[in-house]
Amino acid sequence: MDLRLYDTLTKEKRPFVPLDPDNVRMYVCGPTVYDFAHIGNARPVIVFDVLFRLLRHLYGESHVTYVRNITDVDDKINDRAARDFPGLPLNEAIRKVTEETAAQFHADAAALGALPPTFEPRATDFVLPRPDGKTDMVTLIKELIARGHAYEAGGEVLFDTASMPDYGMLSGRRLDEQKAGARVAVDAHKKNPADFVLWKQSSADEPGWDSPWGRGRPGWHIECSAMSEAYLGKVFDIHGGGLDLIFPHHENELAQSRCAHGTSVLANTWMHNGFLEVEGRKMSKSEGNFVTIRELLADWPGEVLRLNMLRTHYRSPIDWSVRGLQETTKVLDGWYNFIGDCEPASEPDQIFTDTLKDDLNSPAAIARLHQISHPPVAGRARAGTTRAGNRTGVEAAKYLKSSAMLIGLLRPTAGEHSVSKVVHSSVNTAAVEMLIAERNTARKAKNFAASDRIRDELAAMGVVIKDSKEGTTWEIAR
Ligand code: AMP
Ligand code: ZN
Repeated sequence: MDLRLYDTLTKEKRPFVPLDPDNVRMYVCGPTVYDFAHIGNARPVIVFDVLFRLLRHLYGESHVTYVRNITDVDDKINDRAARDFPGLPLNEAIRKVTEETAAQFHADAAALGALPPTFEPRATDFVLPRPDGKTDMVTLIKELIARGHAYEAGGEVLFDTASMPDYGMLSGRRLDEQKAGARVAVDAHKKNPADFVLWKQSSADEPGWDSPWGRGRPGWHIECSAMSEAYLGKVFDIHGGGLDLIFPHHENELAQSRCAHGTSVLANTWMHNGFLEVEGRKMSKSEGNFVTIRELLADWPGEVLRLNMLRTHYRSPIDWSVRGLQETTKVLDGWYNFIGDCEPASEPDQIFTDTLKDDLNSPAAIARLHQISHPPVAGRARAGTTRAGNRTGVEAAKYLKSSAMLIGLLRPTAGEHSVSKVVHSSVNTAAVEMLIAERNTARKAKNFAASDRIRDELAAMGVVIKDSKEGTTWEIAR
């Protein structure tokens, strides 16, 4: 069975054919780092991690490139920095907010069993032309102006939506519809109310970069156009994010990239996860109905949160409830009891993989795991066959383990029989990430005494760190 994925642009489930099977390329919009992520924000992290793992399984671990950015320039970040660190110069306060929030996000993602993406670029590193020649936002904006797709007005650089005949194709919003409800007075400097900001001026106390259009900062959408091209090229395989990003973010990203390069597509498949809801309403900061990943992790193992998320198909809404989490805990406990100390089979179960290949049908795949963990009694006595119904109990356990591991569940080490044991035996990743963030701050300030002290503290916890140009990674000493 071939992998099939639903594409938001064509509204069809289609066979997935990579541009280059030796380098399958996926970009997913990452967090804006001004506050702790809520469990709704965890949905794209988990869903696209499952896809990343499936692609690695199908094409080989070293043949998939997954890029997820960090948005570290945003007015919400500036406001938070001014509020939380009123005594500090704004730039320093911003750095504190973004570093601490990014560290917490990494800790959350790791606790949810998500692999780190292959690259995790930060927007502020891609504003100005770079020594390594990778795509940057200022160069992209210049290109858009040169090709007649952008103009300067009222201290801003704006994308000229009327210059792109099929603008609105992803979200299905046509330009003439958008004009109708627009507030013309606010947008008087725009040629068209739908035109959006590529660059805006910064006041002296706002973060800014010197550009051909004065000291300013980029609009939100242009960062993803720059960072996706920097790592994946002008056209790539999969672009993902939550449903709320289709418009305006992905619509505008697509418009910028295609117009800057004269290409007919940006990504061959656009994928969007549905909303996580509480009592029928989307979980969001502004609704005030949110619970952070960090808070949930205090009460539930990350594995329970992950499995609970995957019990619903990624395109459907999820109703998030404590009851659901309790049921999921029972399921996971049952699996751990069933697998005992066994080693995983060398391959996952074929029906399980085929189900996942059908547009990541995780609820059906989980139902298959349930079936594997309940082999018919008659079948338990017969050994040596590969169909799940006829497997012995031990074989079934091995297949349950290898299959669940494909989607990041059931940790590989043997001997962990219950969910609660898993939690208590692991290092506190959040604490490690916080210490690493603190150490990076100390190193930047050339406070080497503090940075050495923190490294020693980590070593005492059994954590070894490695510094490279890409950042700091860590692992448990063996
Ligand atoms: P934000 O930081 O708001 O840009 O969100 C980061 C990611 O989380 C984006 O991909 C959003 O689409 C996604 N997201 C935000 N809220 C929810 C939710 N309630 N359910 C599912 N995804 C969400
Ligand atoms: Zn984006």
